[in-house]
Amino acid sequence: MKDKTRVDRRSFLRIASAAAAMGVMPINAMATSGSSVSASSANGVRIMVIGAGVAGTRAAIQLKQANPALRVILADPMIDSQKRYQNKINHMLTLESSIQLAAAGIEITAKKIVKVDADKKRVWFDSGAKLDSDILVFAPGVDFKSAPVTTNSIHPLNQTQVQQQVVLMREGGTVVVGIPRAPYQYPQGPYMQVSKMATYLQLHNPAAKVLVLDQNAGSALFEQYRKQWQDGSGSSLIELLATNEDYVRTIEPTMGRIETQDGHINASVIAVMPQQRAGVVARAAGLALNADWCQVNSETLASIHYPHVYVLGDANDAAIDDKTAFTAVRQADRFVRNIIRELV
Ligand SMILES: Cc1cc2nc3c(=O)[nH]c(=O)nc-3n(C[C@H](O)[C@H](O)[C@H](O)COP(=O)(O)OP(=O)(O)OC[C@H]3O[C@@H](n4cnc5c(N)ncnc54)[C@H](O)[C@@H]3O)c2cc1C
Repeated sequence: MKDKTRVDRRSFLRIASAAAAMGVMPINAMATSGSSVSASSANGVRIMVIGAGVAGTRAAIQLKQANPALRVILADPMIDSQKRYQNKINHMLTLESSIQLAAAGIEITAKKIVKVDADKKRVWFDSGAKLDSDILVFAPGVDFKSAPVTTNSIHPLNQTQVQQQVVLMREGGTVVVGIPRAPYQYPQGPYMQVSKMATYLQLHNPAAKVLVLDQNAGSALFEQYRKQWQDGSGSSLIELLATNEDYVRTIEPTMGRIETQDGHINASVIAVMPQQRAGVVARAAGLALNADWCQVNSETLASIHYPHVYVLGDANDAAIDDKTAFTAVRQADRFVRNIIRELV
């Protein structure tokens, strides 16, 4: 039986010409001043990648390397922003700059995709322009279900920012770290961060306390760190509390006050991470039906809802327990291998 998600090059080109006949704006007409989308157009298949994070960048580069005739378009409003690096991977992995991506032959645009018709493989940019593609690749990462509550941190997991606050914290102060119910990005991240903080405080502020409100009681990570903190270095400062999502009622970061089901906590540093789900652009496109994460075939990373649409990285449900850069890269590589095989 023919796999309905399998595509051949001829059918892509047919779709592309049909789109042109429908009057869809070509990319060179779409590009607005300041956009770095180039007009170069091979007769190749047009692949639109949404999100230049770990998965999107890796996929774009590998696609272009595997077949330079492919047109690979990569859109991300953060493409030239420091934030594209800051929030991720604790500087362990560098993402290629827009200059490097352009040099690799990738057509980049620092625009946000605000609307997608997954059926037609059509995207709309925040400039109002639209673009049709033959294959749509979503790699938008995660969104928080509500705004994270922190004292001046850009991300509750951002090591540099949280650590700076811990260093400046008053003697005997309390750090409160909130770990949401999994799945969330980089599952071991908050635990590692708590261990580091406690080790530092043990030496420099031994009267301090690190209170961990964890919604994952019974999970492997919860158990591993519970045991580790029972006898490891700095552990006497850590108090691990199994909670549920209703435990925290309100947080006032400027006052350093957290209202809980058990009364209030005074905190000097607050890093409470809300629950997460797939990036809004993918959910709004109908790729996560009645769910938080986009449903994909775990082998091909193809959306189970639309042909020729793929979701890579944190946003999909393929690596539900392993939303890490490592997995994002492996998924991107697998996707590229499959697509290149299908196109020959
Ligand atoms: C502080 C922190 C530290 C971490 N440390 C590690 C680590 O040490 N090791 C590890 O393996 N993992 C780590 N992770 C997890 C890792 O960063 C993620 O798993 C990985 O980045 C996921 O890749 P992704 O491509 O799916 O999403 P991301 O890398 O998050 O990229 C998503 C991109 O999509 C863009 N985007 C979103 N919506 C749109 C739209 N509508 N239009 C265009 N673009 C859009 C965003 O701007 C973003 O650049 C860490 C995460 C954090 C937050």
